[in-house]
Amino acid sequence: MGLEAALTADTILTTQLRRVVNWARRSSIWPMPFATACCGIELMATACSWYDVARFGSEAMRFSPRQADLLIVAGRVAAKMMPVLQRIYQQMAEPRWVISMGACASTGGVFDTYAVVQGVDQFIPVDVYIPGCPPRPEMLIEGIMAIQRIIDNEGIPPKGPDGKRLPLGIALQQGAARIKPVGITVGS
Ligand code: SF4
Repeated sequence: MGLEAALTADTILTTQLRRVVNWARRSSIWPMPFATACCGIELMATACSWYDVARFGSEAMRFSPRQADLLIVAGRVAAKMMPVLQRIYQQMAEPRWVISMGACASTGGVFDTYAVVQGVDQFIPVDVYIPGCPPRPEMLIEGIMAIQRIIDNEGIPPKGPDGKRLPLGIALQQGAARIKPVGITVGS
């Protein structure tokens, strides 16, 4: 971290355990990619050297849900695939997060048909919606940063009276700025 260069060898730092835990959590959000269509290509692009999602500690894509805490749904989801997606979500580690990437995952997109799920939030709790068809990799990174800010603020999603996880429902603005973080709207 470079701290050792600024501090003497016998320096003692004090902090709170929850801050250390949150720092570790926000710096190691491991995605479980559920990429079914073209949005998945943009998802892959975030790992390339240009976008370098490793800067945020999220380069470790896990294809085992038990080793992941961020589900990224990228692309349209067929009705037949939904039980598979739900099973993956249930097998993921807690606390877990969900990003719905692109118009198809969030609304069905142009596929207004009975065979395509018209929004995965009908079946799993979505924390961040990323608009676009497809969203650029910067938008996905913006979504990951939004989750990091929630973890920083100890915004672990509460559970409802029925014991089910409450979604955060954060909607990123279309065409998020690439220079500074965009505003977020909780519950919209
Ligand atoms: S939102 Fe657009 S780019 Fe993404 S999966 Fe749907 S059609 Fe493809």
